[in-house]
Amino acid sequence: MRIMISLERLVRKNIWELAPYSSARDEYSGKEAHVFLDANENPYNDPYNRYPDPLQRELKAQLAKIKGVRADMIFLGNGSDEAIDLPYRIFCEPGKDNVVAIEPTYGMYKVCADINNVEYRPVLLDEQYQVHADQLLAATDANTKIIWICSPNNPTGNALHREEIEKVLTQFEGIVIIDEAYSDFSSQKTFRSELAKYPNLIVLNTFSKAWGLASIRLGMAFASPEIIQIYNKVKYPYNVNLLTQRQAMEALKDPFEVDKWVKMLLVERTRLMAAFQDLPICEKVYPTDANFFLAKMTDAKSIYDYLVDKGIIVRNRTRIQLCNNCLRITIGMKGENNELLAALRQY
Ligand SMILES: *Cc1c(COP(=O)(O)O)cnc(C)c1O
Repeated sequence: MRIMISLERLVRKNIWELAPYSSARDEYSGKEAHVFLDANENPYNDPYNRYPDPLQRELKAQLAKIKGVRADMIFLGNGSDEAIDLPYRIFCEPGKDNVVAIEPTYGMYKVCADINNVEYRPVLLDEQYQVHADQLLAATDANTKIIWICSPNNPTGNALHREEIEKVLTQFEGIVIIDEAYSDFSSQKTFRSELAKYPNLIVLNTFSKAWGLASIRLGMAFASPEIIQIYNKVKYPYNVNLLTQRQAMEALKDPFEVDKWVKMLLVERTRLMAAFQDLPICEKVYPTDANFFLAKMTDAKSIYDYLVDKGIIVRNRTRIQLCNNCLRITIGMKGENNELLAALRQY
């Protein structure tokens, strides 16, 4: 449990002092008016002529119920990509500050660090792909603003030990971002429900995986209202378009559909992993809490090429640290998984 953090000390001075753009929809967001002549919109072509709600209030009210997080503790962005990029722009002085992250992990944390000219300090996981809080903390210094944790982790698939993450949350003086993009596929308790306990915590979720909506580009960040306010100040004014907001509202009406997909994928995951274990060309199947798993093969490169030839694409992760000869397999529909297995049995 942490009592408080000094956000003013962590946030870049120019961002702390920033006067955000005030849009027409910010200045009047009521519903009572019926003549809108304030935003230089075209009066024709309803409903696409109007700017969307910059704060996505309806959507956040629905999400608050489903995610168990207050609406003012939710940020919505153009995919998780935006929720990953903004903390760099909010907290990290280019050329001066740094971030620490587990390795291997999701590639966007480093790409965004590079784009923002922020030093990225990877800390290798152990052979079981587990994290050690002391090693992450030892990699920090006075200029470390963020520690990136992804659990369940990509590309390894496993959930990281909770006590180690808790130790980072209580001992690190900066922001800890936990990417829980795959938590819907995991039986582990989420950190999203621990926000009240950790004022330095940001949790990321996405509509791209369990919700089956990768194409609409909608990512979520959950954090204290103070941190969310800064996200809102820095984001593009209309960062989530109307079509995306509407499609997400539709999906939220039927969360049981998502539960059904997740259940089917988990059954297939168990079946596919067991079948991989029996393949002579598979040396090891790693434990997973996600909708994919990592498999160590005899020769990842040639097996990958062989599958491409058959029109089946998996992810070759052999060049990633600790993932030599590993393929990352996303769980598909039963027929797709069978096609993959049939091909591998003929290799
Ligand atoms: C797939 C994935 C995401 C989702 O990114 P979007 O931009 O929301 O599509 C986020 N984090 C991790 C670790 C992922 O693997």
